[in-house]
Amino acid sequence: MTDRIIDRTAAELAADIREGRLTSVAVTTAFLDRIAAVDGTVKAFLHVDREGALAVAAEVDAAVAAGEDLGPLAGVPIAVKDVVVTKGLPTTAASKILEGWIPPYDATITERIKAARMPILGKTNMDEFAMGSSTEYSAYFPTRNPWDTGRIPGGSGGGSAAAVAAKMAPLAIGTDTGGSIRQPGAVTGTFGAKPTYGGNSRYGLIAFSSSLDTPGPVSRNALDGALLHEVISGYDPRDSTSIDAPVPPVVEAARLGATGDLTGVRLGVVKEFKEGADAAEPGVIAAYEAGVEQLVKLGAEIVEVSCPSFAYALPTYYLIAPSEASSNLARYDGVRYGLRAGDDGKHSLEEVMSLTREAGFGPEVKRRIILGTYALSAGYVDAFYGKAQKVRTLIKQDFEKAFASVDAIVSPTTPFVAFEFGARTGDPYQMYLADLYTIPTNMYGGPAVSVPVGLSEGMPVGLQVMGPVLGDDVTYRVAAALESTQDVLLADTAPEIEGN
Ligand code: GLN
Repeated sequence: MTDRIIDRTAAELAADIREGRLTSVAVTTAFLDRIAAVDGTVKAFLHVDREGALAVAAEVDAAVAAGEDLGPLAGVPIAVKDVVVTKGLPTTAASKILEGWIPPYDATITERIKAARMPILGKTNMDEFAMGSSTEYSAYFPTRNPWDTGRIPGGSGGGSAAAVAAKMAPLAIGTDTGGSIRQPGAVTGTFGAKPTYGGNSRYGLIAFSSSLDTPGPVSRNALDGALLHEVISGYDPRDSTSIDAPVPPVVEAARLGATGDLTGVRLGVVKEFKEGADAAEPGVIAAYEAGVEQLVKLGAEIVEVSCPSFAYALPTYYLIAPSEASSNLARYDGVRYGLRAGDDGKHSLEEVMSLTREAGFGPEVKRRIILGTYALSAGYVDAFYGKAQKVRTLIKQDFEKAFASVDAIVSPTTPFVAFEFGARTGDPYQMYLADLYTIPTNMYGGPAVSVPVGLSEGMPVGLQVMGPVLGDDVTYRVAAALESTQDVLLADTAPEIEGN
């Protein structure tokens, strides 16, 4: 533990507050002050709620003083990705089309954060409607990577990852449709977990691709992520795809992993991931392989598995996700929410809708809507969307087979470290490649985490641990075991960010 409040982990801060060494007001103020000091540079937040956060903190302090037994993260502040609906707080999904919208209700995960008595610091920047891998597609401004402010913080959840990496928040919420929690985690040296699809509620998430969208934790280490995972997860009758099963014991698994013993754990490496490794930078592969060696030293056994459909995951995703997006985004018509353009009495209702969508959506969102509408159109739906769903089933079968012989599968999280601004915006495919290793998990619906494993060219590299459906605990165990081999958390070695 260090003297600076912002350097402490969420688990440490929770204990400090619970045991009366620190007040939640002091903790929350420290992070708000940090935001005031460095977010002019990093630009992780779209909205900061100083007053609201401090009000919750003061309530927690009163409850602690009264001897109330609060939850495991009570009083610990959190940042929330702007795709999650928060009652009374602006929610835009970083789109102009939702500018100024104040939701009249809370997402289920927002309710659970509030029930856990965690002050919400603010809403974090992202690629518009969570479409992107760099946060450059935010309609407002790009977020900078705290490790090198000339580089991207990943995406779509670059704001949440950068907020945690720059110690503006001890915890954050992300959403992962194809990698948007794990990829930003990898390139900012933070921990990120995509839970099992259906393991936590999508109610109140602004929908992108409903069969893939999964909210999850962003943190500095596996234990903090696990504590948040347990706060937000669990069955919700308001989400028809929510799984009615106990939440996997991720906190217990993270504590077990931290003992550094992986005896008897079988870790798969996917043959086809390796063959596709020419897409990956050598420095990334080297850091990942060194990480695997550490896991072997802790007792893990490495088993080669095969997922022949791996190569089809990316193209399959880019049919399914845009198709679902084109349907989900039809609701932004200028009538129900946010922006309305052309409402001057001279345009028809249809023209108002079309002018609103023209003005309100950015180029990447329009690209996805056009692609998805095409893939769903009569005459093409079987050839594109239908075919993609069949391939998705094959990918799922590959992984089911692999998990019959291993407990978890490891890979690099991303093929490359954080790139410079503008490096991949010119060619959509180059941007899509960032999720080469993360998308397969979304296709089979399982859990996966990204844990910092080392550096390449001075920039963080993440190791991905994938688990079988509802096997979230094993992913945390392996991640925490890897952390136990590191003298200091990689997240704590980021260069000190210059102030505004
Ligand atoms: N980068 C991927 C995309 O652009 C994944 C996004 C996500 O997980 N939200 O669709």
